[in-house]
Amino acid sequence: MATSNSSEGLDVIIVGAGVGGLYAIHKYRQLGLKVRAFEKGDDVGGTWYWNRYPGCRCDVESLEYSFSFSPELDQEWKWPERYGNQGEILKYVQHVADRFDLRKDIQFNTTITSATFDEKTSRWTVTTDKGETITAPYCLMATGNLSTPRKPDIKGIDSFKGKTYHTGLWPHQGVDFTGLRVGVIGTGSSGVQSIPIIAKQARQLTVFQRTANFSLPAQNSPMDPVKEAKHKAEYPERRAGAVNTPFAIAGYPPPTKSALEVSEAERNATYEKKWQEGGSISFLYAYTDLLTNKAANDTASEFVRNKIRSIVKDQETAEALCPIDHPIGTKRLILDTNYYETYNQPHVKLVNIRNNAIAEITEWGIKTADGKSYELDVIVFATGFDAMTGAMKEIDIKGSGGVSIRDKWKDGPQTYLGVMVAGFPNMFMVTGPQSPGVKSQMIFSCQQHVDFVGDMIKYARGRQMRRIEASRMAEINWVQHNNEVANSTLYPLANSWYMGANIPGKPRIFMPYVGGVQNYVAKCNEVVQKGYEGFEMSA
Ligand code: NAP
Repeated sequence: MATSNSSEGLDVIIVGAGVGGLYAIHKYRQLGLKVRAFEKGDDVGGTWYWNRYPGCRCDVESLEYSFSFSPELDQEWKWPERYGNQGEILKYVQHVADRFDLRKDIQFNTTITSATFDEKTSRWTVTTDKGETITAPYCLMATGNLSTPRKPDIKGIDSFKGKTYHTGLWPHQGVDFTGLRVGVIGTGSSGVQSIPIIAKQARQLTVFQRTANFSLPAQNSPMDPVKEAKHKAEYPERRAGAVNTPFAIAGYPPPTKSALEVSEAERNATYEKKWQEGGSISFLYAYTDLLTNKAANDTASEFVRNKIRSIVKDQETAEALCPIDHPIGTKRLILDTNYYETYNQPHVKLVNIRNNAIAEITEWGIKTADGKSYELDVIVFATGFDAMTGAMKEIDIKGSGGVSIRDKWKDGPQTYLGVMVAGFPNMFMVTGPQSPGVKSQMIFSCQQHVDFVGDMIKYARGRQMRRIEASRMAEINWVQHNNEVANSTLYPLANSWYMGANIPGKPRIFMPYVGGVQNYVAKCNEVVQKGYEGFEMSA
């Protein structure tokens, strides 16, 4: 039977206690709002709570990938490595929750199953998997972009007698692969990061690769104390400067030349330097046009393919690992540690399933279309997520007139600034589709969205406006702008999760805003200056 969880005086229901939800608790409290967050897991952390697969590490440097709202925290937190691993980042997020006393406003182990807008009261009512109902004027979906893991729909998947794991739902106690025959399906970031570590334990590792991806060496290392001290001294300028950059990360001088303006020798020397430095931003920022001009991009793509050919000894395997179906950077560029080197180990085998798909998972392993069988003890699904829209669509969200978000987005997401959806008043998103979220330093974008929404609520309340809604026209224009920006780049050339291409039947719409954080924030500022242009407010 449904019970009513006290909603007394509650202003904002927050769905999710990852980095976006946590910052919202902190920020909205400061604005004098009463908040409560609901979190599926038994602790904070979102992505960093669920993705515990071996080798899981952020692809943004640890000194950057952190909250910026507390200068004391910036100075006091010590990151042990250049790139934070899952455990370190989770520890940091837990520290933030404790330090700012955020847990008291979080209900853990609770999944929000529905959210319904009441036209008469202008309030949202959410229900939980425990049968509770909670109401509040505002609902903030801090549900994450890569939070709905998906196993592929392969014949016989449930018949396998061994163990199966999904990288995005990894057991807390870890997995011991010692002496086992392991199959990994998927070679996106999760597969590429976990494969070298699994190979260290497994007796035999078979990687089933449908699409080869570009990966660069992270060049991870213990934190350099000199670099750390310098970065910490520069934090105020770096944090402030992030807003004027495409990816919300300061410290990378913008490129000035086309890749086609310089000689091949100069280009390759530049790419080599960036390869040795490590990091994807630095690499993709080598020239002005790597993401807009196919011929320019080809030079960088070929440089990486040649690296793969030089690292991987077996030439057939090397060629299979060379991505040929998309320009570098148009799928999330991966950072790895010893990924390509792993294939030089005799117990590691790559099975190219591009033209020889997995036909079936049987009781004892995997069968490919050519009739070959691979006996396995464990299958690891590194097969990704129903990205960007999956988490919202899992909740039965009904806006004005009972319209469902699933119907509204059946041909692809439609939002205004990735923050609101027309027809869903008083419901806000943190880094929703058509925002730069996943194409930026995520924590920056989470904070920017939470701030933008908080300021808008304050503005509306100050004018006795209880209802805020994105106008349909503003939404149409923003979606169109988003598409135009994407189409002026090479991004749509890849079958990526940015396009919804990894989920069979999902509409193919380019979802993130790729016009750059600096342009997006400028647009948000202009909207504010014009009295929240495109948002309709009423009593
Ligand atoms: P992903 O990039 O979507 O990769 C999924 C992989 O599974 C792809 O290789 C895909 O092949 C394969 N796959 C899916 N269905 C398949 C099927 N039926 N048969 C065979 N192969 C199949 O997922 P992910 O690696 O989990 O990464 C998702 C995103 O999470 C990343 O792009 C990144 O943004 C984020 N992430 C970041 C980090 C980091 O910060 N370092 C780490 C992990 C994840 P196709 O390409 O052919 O579809």
